[in-house]
Amino acid sequence: MKGKVYLVGGGPGDPELLTLKAAKVLGRADVVLHDALVSHEVLALVVSGAQLVDVGKRCGTKLLTQEEINALMVSYAKSHEVVVRLKGGDPLLFGRAGEEIAALRQAGVEFEIVPGITAGFGAAAAAGFSLTDRRVASQVLFTTIQRDTENRSIQWGGISSTTTLVLYMPGTDYERVMQQLRDAGWPDDMPCAIVSHATGEDQQIRSTVLAKLADEATLPAPSIMVVGRVVAEVAEEISREFRIGPETAERISQRMVI
Ligand code: SAH
Repeated sequence: MKGKVYLVGGGPGDPELLTLKAAKVLGRADVVLHDALVSHEVLALVVSGAQLVDVGKRCGTKLLTQEEINALMVSYAKSHEVVVRLKGGDPLLFGRAGEEIAALRQAGVEFEIVPGITAGFGAAAAAGFSLTDRRVASQVLFTTIQRDTENRSIQWGGISSTTTLVLYMPGTDYERVMQQLRDAGWPDDMPCAIVSHATGEDQQIRSTVLAKLADEATLPAPSIMVVGRVVAEVAEEISREFRIGPETAERISQRMVI
């Protein structure tokens, strides 16, 4: 085998959120196989002369299958030194990287994984709430409503009122999302945020509560939902409650000086 395959996270959209390592690999790539989700600004960082292959694009009427993408990666690694498999967000979250890694291992291709900022982190940063705000949350679940495996619905075991749910691929049917969450026992007043194009130029953020989710206008893909008590408006109220008075602040700063 001639080359090495880099599974690289392209981050949520803003090219400045790319890791230095990712930018360096893009700067010396021979070929870049990328998903449709990767932003134009990130693709612009690929060294000129590198071959760009959009494996997320429809080929006629059908998308490349995962097997075809795996085979492409392996075959490019035979003839090119630096092969980049560029995915949106983090390459290991909801990106079928497991299958790609297995295919590379099986073919004896050397590979390296370059993590990226996942859409859920981009969305939380954009909306300004902490996914694990300790006053209301103790755990985070990265999950999705739409699965193409037979395992279609979320496994609700272990979820409590202090779970923050980060829902990838929520789709456009908010009514269905609302129904699934209600069926699972989530209360009507649970705050939900929808973030579309997180960290990108077209970013849009809405926040509502579960009972009103279906009334929200559908935001353009890619979008992600965050459901939980940490979501903005509520978090703001909490921070008001927790806001410290001037005397306390004075005491704390004196302690810090000592
Ligand atoms: N590996 C990616 C996720 C791939 S699944 C990551 O770590 O982010 C694709 C889903 O990710 C989309 O349907 C959407 O729910 C979410 N997503 C990706 N980029 C996004 C963005 N900029 N804003 C909001 N959601 C995004």
